[in-house]
Amino acid sequence: MADTIPQTPFALISGSAQWGLMFPDDVLEPGVSVRERGLVFETPWGPSENWQVIEVSGEGTPDGEPRRILNVFAHGWPIDSIDHEAFRKVAWILREAGVKKILADSTSGSMNRMLKPGDFIIPWDVLDLSQTRYSLSGKMTAACQSVQLFCRHLAALLKETAEELWPHPHRVVGQDQQLVFAHNWGPRFGSRAEAHAYKVLGADAMNHSTGAEASLAREIGACYVAASFIVRWQDGVMDRPPEDSTALHESLRHPASRISLRTMIRAPLSEQCGCHKLRTLTRREDIRFAQNQRGFTCG
Ligand SMILES: [Zn+2]
Repeated sequence: MADTIPQTPFALISGSAQWGLMFPDDVLEPGVSVRERGLVFETPWGPSENWQVIEVSGEGTPDGEPRRILNVFAHGWPIDSIDHEAFRKVAWILREAGVKKILADSTSGSMNRMLKPGDFIIPWDVLDLSQTRYSLSGKMTAACQSVQLFCRHLAALLKETAEELWPHPHRVVGQDQQLVFAHNWGPRFGSRAEAHAYKVLGADAMNHSTGAEASLAREIGACYVAASFIVRWQDGVMDRPPEDSTALHESLRHPASRISLRTMIRAPLSEQCGCHKLRTLTRREDIRFAQNQRGFTCG
């Protein structure tokens, strides 16, 4: 039987940055506990599994009040199958929960020779050539604005938190560097030709989740920020064989998870960033008027 979706404005979408950890238990962040674990929510496209509710004491929150953070494992991906609907299911659940602030963490591959494995990166824009396929709205009249797909205020807070916690000599690259994230559905990594093409188009890094999440977060009118770290160069970017990233991932998943959690503990509920105003759906009346002008009968 499906669980009831809890109400909270805060969500943390866990990704490959947290793989191999029991989250948030292994992070040992003070004042943090799990209120409910193993939740399953029903959506119009089927069930979504591996949700939990993280409870945070008032210590560290901007208003001194306790808060709950809705958390899903691995972008909502099922463990034993490929289901790209997972992104739409997650966004639908976050909308039903009343979520206003979303952080998603991930790992990524670099297509920029100046971005190297171990860099913590906060993207500024998205290059997703397939972005309407899993729209939550299901209709072309639901066109949202695409400026500021990543919340500038959450990004600034994330950078500040990462600069406190990310281990040296690895670097933190914030939105001032205006990094562009390309989306690749996966599960395979981008090919050498794809990496070259996206690089020419202006992308700096690539992963399997950020593009889809950014589009859907805009559709539900929520602020969204992506916290990622580079684990490898995309194939063909450097003139040498790919390196095993296992040791690097294991050494950085703990600080990456702490940065995600602490950022969501510190995140204010302010709307001064302006993200919510960028969900400007076309009004049904405007469509009717335009069609009547052309002599169509509207349903
Ligand atoms: Zn925002």
